[in-house]
Amino acid sequence: MNVYVPTNLYDGEQAVSHEGYALVEEGGRIVAVGPESDVVPKAGNSTRFRLDGTLMPGLIDCHTHVSLSGGSNPVADLKADSPTRRVVRALAALAAQRRAGVTTIRDVGGPGGLDLELARGIREGWVVGPRMLAAGEVICITGGHACFLGIEADGADAVRRAVRSQIKAGADLVKVIATGGVITPGVEPGAAQMTPEELSAACTEAKKAGRLVAAHAQGAQGIRDALLAGVHTIEHGFYLDTETIGLMVARGAVLVPTFAAAEAMLDGEGRGVPQYMLDKIRRISGAHVKSFRAALAAGVEVACGTDAGTPLNPHGRLSREAALFVAHGASPAQACRGCTGAAARAIGRDDVGVLQVGRRADLLLIAGNPLDDVEALSRVRAVFMDGLQVEGEVCRSD
Ligand SMILES: [Zn+2]
Repeated sequence: MNVYVPTNLYDGEQAVSHEGYALVEEGGRIVAVGPESDVVPKAGNSTRFRLDGTLMPGLIDCHTHVSLSGGSNPVADLKADSPTRRVVRALAALAAQRRAGVTTIRDVGGPGGLDLELARGIREGWVVGPRMLAAGEVICITGGHACFLGIEADGADAVRRAVRSQIKAGADLVKVIATGGVITPGVEPGAAQMTPEELSAACTEAKKAGRLVAAHAQGAQGIRDALLAGVHTIEHGFYLDTETIGLMVARGAVLVPTFAAAEAMLDGEGRGVPQYMLDKIRRISGAHVKSFRAALAAGVEVACGTDAGTPLNPHGRLSREAALFVAHGASPAQACRGCTGAAARAIGRDDVGVLQVGRRADLLLIAGNPLDDVEALSRVRAVFMDGLQVEGEVCRSD
């Protein structure tokens, strides 16, 4: 049994942090959390650690691609990379995420089952990484956005077969491509791609298997079709309108805007990012921020995902996404919840993301208080998974 007594404790849910709180861990789980004077007497025979900084849940990145390079043109890299190189890149991506305090990632698409095998290895304990949920190959229309990462399926039957194949291969979630996107040449972010029938077929199959569906959805029509079909998260959501925001609230869908990806690409002028990507990202960036602000005002739940692996957007930058949440109108508490408690809901996990009795002791110690200064999320001091310290300065017992 271990007792952690930090300067400050943030639970991943409330808008306040607490001084004088302690967290008790046993067997990798949180067994008590609360005022030190209440919880410590219950801890019995234990080792006590005094921690300098804020103790909070390990971060959750809701949108990653460990198969993508994060170089100036990941689409070209993907074509050029050998299978061996892809594996090496993915292992480096996992390491970078964990160093940045991320203890869970949701990988939303990569080719060849690499993400599924990594997730399996991590789950079985012989691959080092953050906890990982993986979508396998994305499901898209022929020639649609991200077809280089996925299965091209046309018509409800083909979509059903594609979803079933990924679930058979071990997918933790299903990723559908409801609209065009930025990094694929020749498609428009605002244009719908999968039909309502195809999206419904995907959601029905996923639901039967107990999987959630994440929809790449940028234009309003595709967002609406995806929500009506029953997806759980809207990824990017560039062109939300009153109707789609209302649907999100009514259905409890979560928005994962991935500002870090957009920002990295906007900074890509003269750095090798293809012109067609620059043109598209410039066109949508105003609407992207406006959508986010409207969603916040309406009470849509928002969660942080980096879209790491996309142009000039390497893994391990979730703290930047949280900072961009604040820059675009969220409170620091909303941004912090976006990479902890709300992120856990976005990915459908109730065992991580909040410092609550019974959940896994996936913990992060940072310098400073992120509710006062969201940039504190980048000042990682120590990372714990299942109660074991896996990164950072060694915490000593007193
Ligand atoms: Zn993505």
